[in-house]
Amino acid sequence: MYDVAEIRQNFPILDREVHGKPLVYLDNAATSQKPRQVIQTLTDYYEKHNANIHRGAHRLAEEATAAYEEAREKVARFISAPDSDGLIFTRGTTESINLVAHAWGRKNLREGDEIVLTETEHHSNLVPWQLAVRDTGARLRFIPMLDDGTLDMEAARRLIGPKTKLVACTHASNVLATINPVEELARLAHENDALMLVDGAQSAPHMPVDVEKLGCDFFAASGHKMLGPTGAGFLWGRIEILEEMEPFLGGGEMIREVHLDHSTWNDLPYKFEAGTMNIEGAIGLGAAVDYLDELGMENIREHERRLGAYAHGRLSEIEGIVLYGPEKDRAGLVSFSLPDVHPHDLSQLLDEEGVAIRSGHHCCQPLMRRLGIAATARASFYLYNTEEEADALVAALVRAREFFGAFA
Ligand code: PLP
Repeated sequence: MYDVAEIRQNFPILDREVHGKPLVYLDNAATSQKPRQVIQTLTDYYEKHNANIHRGAHRLAEEATAAYEEAREKVARFISAPDSDGLIFTRGTTESINLVAHAWGRKNLREGDEIVLTETEHHSNLVPWQLAVRDTGARLRFIPMLDDGTLDMEAARRLIGPKTKLVACTHASNVLATINPVEELARLAHENDALMLVDGAQSAPHMPVDVEKLGCDFFAASGHKMLGPTGAGFLWGRIEILEEMEPFLGGGEMIREVHLDHSTWNDLPYKFEAGTMNIEGAIGLGAAVDYLDELGMENIREHERRLGAYAHGRLSEIEGIVLYGPEKDRAGLVSFSLPDVHPHDLSQLLDEEGVAIRSGHHCCQPLMRRLGIAATARASFYLYNTEEEADALVAALVRAREFFGAFA
């Protein structure tokens, strides 16, 4: 049984107050809170095992290396990757996508080639590609968004063609809550001998992910959004593609032999893990994955689907509110605006009630332009949030509305 009250006891921060009110943390799309199990893993690591990995010939180095490599296995299993050699630890989604744009893009893109993105992407799945095409002469194309917040798949079928070298798309939108048909995009990409990259920043924490079923060639995600520590995330890539790629960062550990004028590269995944990695971050991410596995990703998805729909319904009762994104098949977040209140003022006023939401462009400026707005407010839910918290959000919004109404 999925018992939210019991789950919440594992998250010490949820007990705190903000401005004298119980914290209602609804900024999970930005980062998640951490359970005791992850915090304890980090403490244990520093109290008992801390050492640099792979190079040391002593007991602590062996223990730290074993824990780090075990974490790699756990994360690979978590996304049903066929192997763990294709699982590269990075700082997170942003670094993972930059790795591909640099190490695959600079080698494989030429003038006349096209990268197909969507106009709903987070800046981290847009700017790295802008840099890659600037350096290679390739060109970006964009799958448009329909007015209901879903992708225009007819346009996608026209856009993805013989010139396409890679399609890159977010699995779940951090603004619209749309879950994109990445399997279909992967199929279209492969029919045209192109590769498929999935930005899993908003899917890996919230729903079961099977990279084989998705049919993607690269999958990127951030540990800090899925109960893990900040600064540790991952890129999974198909071995045969990673083998052919150039390194991203050069330095220690990623080499086999170094001469004064040239070097050769280490095996996967080490070829892409230069220098001392975020060892405790990766081990903490392993503990986060254990926690998620124990709850069950299907259960987490179901909880968030129900809670997201409940919050969407309650918010839609507020007069004049604008809700963004599709009506159905949503991820567990809601972006909204009130016509008479700026989203920044709203989040400030809600903070005084202990309710933490985010407002702004959410690193999606082109999407904001497409929507014809500068910013939205966003409440994003996770496995520990409750209907009572959604009610607290709505009550705080109504009070904020009254407050601003009084000054109108
Ligand atoms: N992609 C999406 C859809 C996101 O929501 C985010 C973060 O909000 C990112 C990428 C970037 O993640 P990070 O900052 O952890 O690299």
